[in-house]
Amino acid sequence: MINVNLTAVKDNIRTAAVKTGRDPGSVRLICVTKEATTNQMFDALSYGATELGENKVQDTLLKFRAIGNKAVWHLIGHLQTNKAKDAVSVFSLIHSVDSVKLAKAINKEAEKVSKIQDVLIEVNVSGEGTKFGISPDELENLLMSVKELQNIHCIGLMTVTPLTDAPENSRGYFRKLKELAVQFGLKELSMGMTQDYQVAIEEGATMVRVGRAIFSS
Ligand SMILES: *Cc1c(COP(=O)(O)O)cnc(C)c1O
Repeated sequence: MINVNLTAVKDNIRTAAVKTGRDPGSVRLICVTKEATTNQMFDALSYGATELGENKVQDTLLKFRAIGNKAVWHLIGHLQTNKAKDAVSVFSLIHSVDSVKLAKAINKEAEKVSKIQDVLIEVNVSGEGTKFGISPDELENLLMSVKELQNIHCIGLMTVTPLTDAPENSRGYFRKLKELAVQFGLKELSMGMTQDYQVAIEEGATMVRVGRAIFSS
């Protein structure tokens, strides 16, 4: 089933990219495994998945022990400062930086292990649906603070859109995130999940975070 699902998602990614004149290779699929078992994750990797997204550090540590560096790990959920050390030890990209305090905590732990930690800033463009993420008018200040930190590198923006069963409802939010990325010269855009990843790609997503479409049968 995972094989079939993964193929379908990849086909949809290709279609959405081609539809808007984009190179399908410019969109990375992050398989969201927060509800998947380690066995399912190994399955996905054997069928060609390479990047895994988790939203809790604690859960990831257990899975990481089994899977290790056979995958590229993304933290897509909220991060507490006291988990920064573990997060830095596992994740290639932390999608959810939304405060100076958190950025500093990550920077400090990254410095200890001589890592430059790539991060995204989470922006709550909809103003609803999630209590995490900064508002768009706080972005400039946070970016300036992050720039002063030596061991953390902000490469783009992330957003979580409100739950919907109509993908078009998300389009305006994706467009807004893209505008902010352009305004601040940021390349990566992590946006779109099972409910709306095709629309996100049409609006410029460089990473989509898809869970249910792959792992629920
Ligand atoms: C769970 C989750 C996803 C994936 O959602 P699906 O509906 O399973 O595709 C994407 N992003 C975040 C932040 C999540 O927590």
